[in-house]
Amino acid sequence: MSREHLHQISVHLRCAEPQKDSKLGWCGRHAQYFRPGRHLLPDAYYCDWHRAPSDLPVPVDPLIRRVAIVAEIDLAGVTLLPRPAQHEAVLRLEAAVAEIGGRLNICRVSSSMARQTPPARPAVTNAERGRG
Ligand SMILES: [Zn+2]
Repeated sequence: MSREHLHQISVHLRCAEPQKDSKLGWCGRHAQYFRPGRHLLPDAYYCDWHRAPSDLPVPVDPLIRRVAIVAEIDLAGVTLLPRPAQHEAVLRLEAAVAEIGGRLNICRVSSSMARQTPPARPAVTNAERGRG
């Protein structure tokens, strides 16, 4: 596929530094530096914290791996009225996605009345049963 036929999207580039101590596995912060690929390593982007002295400024139209996630997200509405509850929930989700450098494409928004189930109780161990 030629470069001219690729999607054009506006998202933050994200740092490719591995983070073994993080459950996410990668830094993922906003990247402002470019490291050309070598041997089997692909081109990559790095944040100010993880840049190497030889890293370059990001090119004008950098290639990225676009990750598109289709999901259903449940939130409690801030009100029982459907429209303001849905509107606030969309704004809050957009803000959360923007905070990690993404862009939210809303496909559908709906709401319905529900009852919140109580949180699951932690399992009681035999040692705890013996106390008292
Ligand atoms: Zn980083």
